[in-house]
Amino acid sequence: MKLDVNVLRYLSKDDFRVLTAVEMGMRNHEIVPCELIDRIARLKHGGTYKVLKNLLKHKLVHHDSSKYDGFRLTYLGYDFLAIKTLVNRGIFNGVGRQIGVGKESDIFEVVKEDGTVLAMKLHRLGRVSFRAVKSKRDYLRHRSSYNWLYLSRLAALKEFAFMKALEEHGFPVPQAVDCNRHCVIMSLVPGYPLVCIIVVWFLPRNSGCRTYKYGDNSVQVRELQNPGVVFETIIAAVIRLAEHGLIHCDFNEFNIMIDDDEKVTIIDFPQMVSVSHPNAQMYFDRDVECIYKFFAKRYNMSFEENENDSDGLEVEIDDVGRPQFSEINKNSGFLDKELAASGFTRKDQDELEKLIEGELEKQSDSDDEGTADEEDEEDINNTNVKQLESLDLSKEDVNHQAGDDKHDDNHQVGNEH
Ligand code: ADP
Ligand code: MG
Repeated sequence: MKLDVNVLRYLSKDDFRVLTAVEMGMRNHEIVPCELIDRIARLKHGGTYKVLKNLLKHKLVHHDSSKYDGFRLTYLGYDFLAIKTLVNRGIFNGVGRQIGVGKESDIFEVVKEDGTVLAMKLHRLGRVSFRAVKSKRDYLRHRSSYNWLYLSRLAALKEFAFMKALEEHGFPVPQAVDCNRHCVIMSLVPGYPLVCIIVVWFLPRNSGCRTYKYGDNSVQVRELQNPGVVFETIIAAVIRLAEHGLIHCDFNEFNIMIDDDEKVTIIDFPQMVSVSHPNAQMYFDRDVECIYKFFAKRYNMSFEENENDSDGLEVEIDDVGRPQFSEINKNSGFLDKELAASGFTRKDQDELEKLIEGELEKQSDSDDEGTADEEDEEDINNTNVKQLESLDLSKEDVNHQAGDDKHDDNHQVGNEH
């Protein structure tokens, strides 16, 4: 998804007022009727339709006239609303390059006034899952009424809350800075995902990051000096997480960052579950297995118990068997107590978990993934959306929208079904 933030500069106050009006209208409407947008926006000098045309030109809204003339937000429109709010809060004032594309997110650098660079994660639930739902079997058949913007907001809220709680408990995670709508701002992790660390078998190991000549190009090669230590650190983190009542559920080489000093940072938390989850054991074992498999394959580590034959092994590990979920001292209560206070409620958790279960089930079935933007928009558009009332509007958005005059339109919106 292209995020051309230059457009932000050309958007007027009225543009944002109308964009926010579309968002507000989406609480109760899949497609917000033009008249309703006009009523909510209350532009001083009129011209809502002209503004909508401008927003459409920049792909911030989607036009639908199949049932009646109306609009809904696109992910880009949602991005702009979140970015604007965070800029107004003084969290950052510039958006830089894209540094990551996750399964269901886009990650950008953002810059603060003092030059500090942070990471901005824009959640995009539905980008992969809906495609799979459509093309495979209907995981969400009995809950087809999900609104992807709403779910992306929940995912962001959850990620922010978990990151903050984990950070406070001394886990190696990015620092959670702020969150709005589907957007999480966190510290920028120096380094690379573990998957990008390459083993260079034919050269002596003496530095973490070297540049080689490859044809006319310089190639940066990163390699681990102490894979055994990194492996142990990672496994210790999974165990400690479980002891605190949590399972990552997507613990793999893509979600573990390594810096030049081989310091480990764990990222990507929206799918985390409590150790009291009915499938906790399976998720825990799968996380552990992922790490074992990766190190066995990439670093030729052997994990057989009482391994005597070390011929050909790059690294040996004193193995005492895989960590057993049943043997972990689960200090449960951590999740519920701390996260309840963070704004991520039990209800939010349940709702997100329902979707995530579908995602987790689906992971072994991932041959049919794609990320074409146009199609994504279509997918979202074609969703049978009924549950719309929960789209988030923070107080500041509502204040901004309402200005000084009283709005009874919101009540009107609330009453329409
Ligand atoms: P997804 O949930 O879509 O998998 P991730 O949170 O795993 O998204 O992020 C995708 C990629 O973006 C990561 O593999 C990493 O390269 C990059 N990334 C994410 N968060 C950060 C961060 N805080 N600092 C630096 N890079 C990051
Ligand atoms: Mg990830």
